[in-house]
Amino acid sequence: MSWAAVKGHEKLVASFQNVIRRGRLAHAYLFVGPPGVGKKRFAVELAKTMLCEDPAASVRLEACDQCSACVQIAALTHPDYQQIGIPEDKHEFPIDLMQDLISHLALKPARGKHRAAIVDDADTFNDETANCFLKSLEEPPPMSLLILIGTNPDRQLPTIRSRCQLIRFAGLPEEVMAAHLVQEGVAPALDAARQLLQLSSRNLADARLLADPATRTFRREFLDGLSQPNADSVGLGQKLVKFADEGVKESAVKRQRAALALKFVIDFLRAAILTQNGGQPPLADPQDAKAVRRLAESVPPDALLRMLDRSLEADYQVGRRLQLVLILEALTDALGQAA
Ligand SMILES: [Zn+2]
Repeated sequence: MSWAAVKGHEKLVASFQNVIRRGRLAHAYLFVGPPGVGKKRFAVELAKTMLCEDPAASVRLEACDQCSACVQIAALTHPDYQQIGIPEDKHEFPIDLMQDLISHLALKPARGKHRAAIVDDADTFNDETANCFLKSLEEPPPMSLLILIGTNPDRQLPTIRSRCQLIRFAGLPEEVMAAHLVQEGVAPALDAARQLLQLSSRNLADARLLADPATRTFRREFLDGLSQPNADSVGLGQKLVKFADEGVKESAVKRQRAALALKFVIDFLRAAILTQNGGQPPLADPQDAKAVRRLAESVPPDALLRMLDRSLEADYQVGRRLQLVLILEALTDALGQAA
């Protein structure tokens, strides 16, 4: 049934059901936690629980998934339900989207129960958008439920943090994620799923990308190329852009692929720096050992640190939604120069 779609957060489900039972649901919540742990899934189920029109739902504290309200929420056509996020081509959350949402929320519920709104990508609020949102919290419309979704409470204005109830989502247990990957058909068995999770630092979305053999091939070729003396930065830059860009339409997926490639590079550079300092870096793939050693032996420590610095900067820029191709080309240029 409905809450069963939420994996690995059973305690939170139970505590929300308890809060609803006692009629103590807050007007506004801020959900935070690592990406990919199911915060949005949870928010949608919570909204459905409040809007479901099956009489048994208010006893079970779980949506039926079958009444017309539940069906309309799934189709995003319910008049009392809104779900917004940052548009693909924007770096900051546009204020007009927020104004629109707030004015809708102030209306009386069309179907008579509640109004619910889910606002994803709250990390990208600028002050203007945040203040617009805050105004609606000063006098929350009755029967309304607002859920903000972000990754870290520190990325919100203190005034937002103080007016929303903060709910922290922990990372999912590895067993839950592994079972998920097998269920999705991404990995053939639990062992293979665990290996993907290790390579992706327990990030589900990245583990899915890593299940594609082409991703593993790119990783191997790129890291081997980077560790060569006089690395061919133009060739590496092209490889990187091709990996992020080729055959992919949605820019969010491109950014995710670029971020994964940068994670490969950052982990690799860290391993080389640790090796230079006499440490034994944990390697996600034992095949990395040779290239890590080569890089540690051929590039001076200050140059390695500069390379790491530039890679972290590029990672930040990808997160800030700057022009992908420019970031990646500038990065490989800088890496080539430093090496
Ligand atoms: Zn229902």
